[in-house]
Amino acid sequence: MPELDLRAPRLFVDAPLSPGQSVTLEQNQSNYLGNVLRLSAGESILVFNGRDGEWQAEIAGRKRPDSLTITAQTRPQDRLPDIAYVFAPLKHARLDYMVQKAVEMGASSLQPVLTRFTQVSRVNGERMRANVIEAAEQCGILSLAEVAEPVPFDRFLSQRESRRLLVFCDEAAEVENPLEALQGTSAAAGIDVLIGPEGGFAEEERALLLRQPQTLRLSLGPRILRADTAGVAALALVQAARGDWGGSG
Ligand code: SAH
Repeated sequence: MPELDLRAPRLFVDAPLSPGQSVTLEQNQSNYLGNVLRLSAGESILVFNGRDGEWQAEIAGRKRPDSLTITAQTRPQDRLPDIAYVFAPLKHARLDYMVQKAVEMGASSLQPVLTRFTQVSRVNGERMRANVIEAAEQCGILSLAEVAEPVPFDRFLSQRESRRLLVFCDEAAEVENPLEALQGTSAAAGIDVLIGPEGGFAEEERALLLRQPQTLRLSLGPRILRADTAGVAALALVQAARGDWGGSG
């Protein structure tokens, strides 16, 4: 794994990154660097844009940071495994947590689905995107997970690419070793990891899911996990068995 400088401040900038490039800071970025991190002109931070890897950038500005001068690339752009986190959204702070943890766990896209027992009907996509960027900045993640608009459960099923592996985390499944279950699958065309709402899946949803092609009904052990806990557990298992935790490089 290339050297990851966890101490240097890291900022997402929506601009092309190349040597000598100047990037104007937005007000909130200038405030964060100047007032929160108390950095000043001449000091360096790390920046990324989700496409061009990670670069060193020097702060410029007389009274306060107002732009960055891009100097050298510190890490090349990487690619995330094609793992979509498909989940019944929770409310507010718990949704923030779900989004940030899914990003840390390496999900490449976030797809809220509205199931029968989902407790929220609207999802703030801008807030989700801000959480994706914050988690990436904090953890040195260079690829930005895509945030999809929420869709009703049946539309998600009818629209999804059926060659993808559907990992259906079912709280009603018989307990069996999830790692062995995952290792027995082929996930050539990407993986959808599905987590239900606090109220679990409705019976008709479970029946529909079990009729889908390429569906793995996965138990996450003998105890019921809260939805946000289940998301982290499921993504850890999927990354370990079929993702980029395998150390295959
Ligand atoms: N009806 C319970 C279960 C909801 S848990 C309740 O109201 O608390 C929310 C989601 O987390 C489930 O739909 C499932 O996707 C996942 N989950 C939780 N515990 C699980 C387990 N032991 N095995 C598989 N999935 C689980």
